Amino acid sequence: MSQYKNILVAIDLSEESNMVAERARALADANQAALHFIHVIEPLSFAYGGDIPMDFSGIQEEIHQQATQQMRRFAEQHGIDVEHQTIVLGKPEVEIHSAAKELGTDLIVIGSHGRHGLALLMGSTANGVLHGASCDVLAVRVGK
Ligand code: AMP
Repeated sequence: MSQYKNILVAIDLSEESNMVAERARALADANQAALHFIHVIEPLSFAYGGDIPMDFSGIQEEIHQQATQQMRRFAEQHGIDVEHQTIVLGKPEVEIHSAAKELGTDLIVIGSHGRHGLALLMGSTANGVLHGASCDVLAVRVGK
C-alpha cells in the first residue's frame, strides 16, 4: 500500500480540534508524512452581508487576529511550525480543497459529527470536503 506523504488537517479551533490533530499526527508518524494545518475564517459578510447595512471590516480584522493567535498556539502545541500553517478567509470546504491542491496533499483529515436527520440534509463541513476532494479524506468522529 502506498504511504501518505502530505497530510492536511482541517482545524476549526474548537475543543474537538485536539482529537483531529492527534489522529493526524499518529498517521503522519506512521507514514513519515509532512503535516499541514489549515484554519478558515468565514467572512461575516457571508452570514450578514446582504441583510445588515454595516461595515464589518473592524470586527473582521479583530476576528482574524484572534484566530491567528489561537492557531499559532494550537499548532505550537502539536509541533507544527508557521510554514506548515494556513489561515485563510473564505468558505471552509472551498479553501480546504484549494489548499490541498496547492500543497500536493494526499490525505485530508477532518472532524465529523456523524450528523443525521435534518442536520445531515443541511450539510456539514466534512460532507462538503469529501465531495469534490481530489485526494483521500479521513473523517475523524468527534463529539456525540
Ligand atoms: P462542522 O461540520 O462545522 O461541524 O466541522 C467538522 C470539521 O470540519 C471540524 O472538526 C474541522 O475539521 C472542519 N472545519 C469546520 N470548520 C472549519 C474551519 N473554519 N476551518 C478549518 N476546518 C474547519
